[in-house]
Amino acid sequence: MNEVVGRFAPSPTGPLHFGSLVAALASWADARARGGRWLVRMEDVDEPRCVAGADREILRTLERFGLRWDGEVMYQSARGAAYREALERLKELGAAYACSCSRKEAGEVYAGTCRAGAREAGKPVAWRVRVEDVEVGFDDRVCGRFTQNLARDVGDFVVLRADGLFAYQLAVVVDDAAQGVTDVVRGADLLDSTPRQIRLQRLLGYPEPRYLHVPVVTNAAGEKLSKQTLAPALAEGREEEDLRAALRFLGQPEAPRGVELLRWAVEKWRVSDGL
Ligand code: GLU
Repeated sequence: MNEVVGRFAPSPTGPLHFGSLVAALASWADARARGGRWLVRMEDVDEPRCVAGADREILRTLERFGLRWDGEVMYQSARGAAYREALERLKELGAAYACSCSRKEAGEVYAGTCRAGAREAGKPVAWRVRVEDVEVGFDDRVCGRFTQNLARDVGDFVVLRADGLFAYQLAVVVDDAAQGVTDVVRGADLLDSTPRQIRLQRLLGYPEPRYLHVPVVTNAAGEKLSKQTLAPALAEGREEEDLRAALRFLGQPEAPRGVELLRWAVEKWRVSDGL
């Protein structure tokens, strides 16, 4: 088997919360349990949403929890050339087209209005990737088979926004390929982004990583922990309890008191249905 390469790819929009710890710990343990490498990538492609200094705070928090990464941290804000090159390839393939529709005009599932050419000359255009009326699926290591018909469920999707920023969907695919990521482990809120990412991998000739989507952590109101739902930052001095809670959330066996938690987590790491 080729070497396992996992990654944690936070958006530096604020401090890590318990939900991010679960995703980080799962990808770390999953890679380390197979002797693999674990990378950290700052997904700061959507610069207006990023908060100055949040990247350093995230890295400090990972260190505080003992989650050590390999190599240099990749920053998406420095990757524009690679994304432009990928977009050029999509254009050459005839798989991408300019679109002048506003978000409102485009609606939930884009009907392909600009496929034959952007309708409104002179307006800033977004670039969309064509999708096909076929099922795109993959076997998630926890969730099982997941399938979407991209034409029916998503529509042609944006890879370069009209404001000039590359979209997450393109950036993540280009970077996972560039970093040789073999195993994507992340929250299940991204499950329905995966078929779009597979579409891009196939168009660009990239290998398809294995996927493991871990259940999303919610608050008492049933909302996903996030900056928007005001999830509290991971407090200092609670590392042991937080790690134990994250392992429990991930369905891992309870570690006896006094063991070195991360070593235990790697030794016992198991992935089963629903985790
Ligand atoms: N940057 C994304 C987030 O923080 C994660 C992307 C991924 O893991 O593919 O939600």
